[in-house]
Amino acid sequence: MEIRWRGLTARPYDTAMGKKAVALVSGGLDSALACALALRLGFAVVGVNLATGFCVGKGRCDTVLALAQRLGIPVRLLDVGDEFLAVVRAPKFGYGSGMNPCLDCRVLMLRAAGRVMEEEGADFVITGEVLGQRPMSQHRRALDLVAAESGLGDRLVRPLSGRLLPATFPERMGWVRRDDWLDIQGRSRKRQLALAREWGLTEFVQPSGGCCLLLSRPYAIRLGDAFTARGPHALDRDDFALLRFGRHFRLSPAVKVIVGREERENAVLAGFAPGRWVLSFPAVPGPVALVEGEPTACDLALAARLAARYSDAPSDELVTVRVSHGNDVQELTVLPLPPNDPRLARWRLGE
Ligand code: SF4
Repeated sequence: MEIRWRGLTARPYDTAMGKKAVALVSGGLDSALACALALRLGFAVVGVNLATGFCVGKGRCDTVLALAQRLGIPVRLLDVGDEFLAVVRAPKFGYGSGMNPCLDCRVLMLRAAGRVMEEEGADFVITGEVLGQRPMSQHRRALDLVAAESGLGDRLVRPLSGRLLPATFPERMGWVRRDDWLDIQGRSRKRQLALAREWGLTEFVQPSGGCCLLLSRPYAIRLGDAFTARGPHALDRDDFALLRFGRHFRLSPAVKVIVGREERENAVLAGFAPGRWVLSFPAVPGPVALVEGEPTACDLALAARLAARYSDAPSDELVTVRVSHGNDVQELTVLPLPPNDPRLARWRLGE
């Protein structure tokens, strides 16, 4: 077998030759090691990376591709954004500490990997899951549950903890021995980092956690607010995306204001104008702000004062705010809210 990276010295089994695994690859260390181990044992591996639309961190795709190149495996990049939104709106197994539906998410990802397994004529699916590493989705009962719910059953293999888990399909078929899997468990990454060093794997996203937007407290607060105000099923893909940007203020159950924090964000907010009121400042440097919901004239005036508080207008001088809604444009002259207005903290969502 071709040696594709430094440290791959194990002799692969003949029994594994010609057998194929589909690997869920996130660009992180654990899934990289799971792939490397399967390759080391002689299995062919096809990587699958799923984009949910909630990943944070730049260059993740590049990392996945670099890692796949390093391992010498093909990788398929799939968009599961719409399926994932359905799960975020109504998770069967509930949320974790934020608005993260981790169990449902794992089931969704494994079902997608199972579909790829069928398409590729592969024999089983591997993941980088580690027993006891994550409180919601990687304790023993959770691992069993997602294996069953995903329909993969014992065709789902977790090579990093395989020795600690019941025998799976490749083991039952005699393609590998129990001892070939690893027995890593818990939250420490020491053993994984040592293996990565030993095997010369460097192209992975550093294990810092927090790679999912749904684990972010500010985002979770905004999402919870939007679900309460509008109902989970009223939110479309754009609504979920808009929760990432700007300062968010809930003025009333029917009205929310979003204020850009800097120039780039102002440009992003302007792209979300359809269906919303857009506030801008024709005479002084100021933010772009959006108003969502069903604002009255009073609400728009209050939103204009709120946005003006973040403009360069002195707080004791009147300022002109342009309010656009489709083709309808009006100008309001308002006094900015004082920075110490106690309502600001009450209205603010997620900061
Ligand atoms: S943290 Fe996010 S991406 Fe990870 S399992 Fe949970 S919901 Fe899915």
